[in-house]
Amino acid sequence: MSDCLFCKIIAGEIPSNKIYEDEDVFAFHDIEAQAPHHFLVIPKQHIATLNEADDAVLLGKLSLTASKIAKDLGFAEDGYRVVMNCNNDGGQAVYHIHLHCLAGRQLQWPPG
Ligand code: AMP
Ligand code: ZN
Repeated sequence: MSDCLFCKIIAGEIPSNKIYEDEDVFAFHDIEAQAPHHFLVIPKQHIATLNEADDAVLLGKLSLTASKIAKDLGFAEDGYRVVMNCNNDGGQAVYHIHLHCLAGRQLQWPPG
């Protein structure tokens, strides 16, 4: 989608701190980290919100990519949180679905 920030990041039109990329997904460090480790995993296909998503394999791949990166970066055993915000009440700001992965400190629950 031409006017989407994350589509532009995938296309390389906007720089990002990339961690991982394959034919389906792209992962990069969040520009405003909320924890010592905070990265985003996004599908290359533009999907605005979880409400529009219907590809179970692709959604599963977002989670498996997060766990792979957590293992590669060495914090999988200590633990981490993955979360996807949806629409206004969920706190979604960028309308291209993304899985947040946060780690490196004790995360609070409930998140507020
Ligand atoms: P959400 O509120 O769930 O839509 O999260 C959007 C996330 O995208 C926020 O955590 C932002 O800090 C992050 N973000 C926004 N712009 C960029 C960017 N150019 N590079 C990396 N992360 C970004
Ligand atoms: Zn997009």
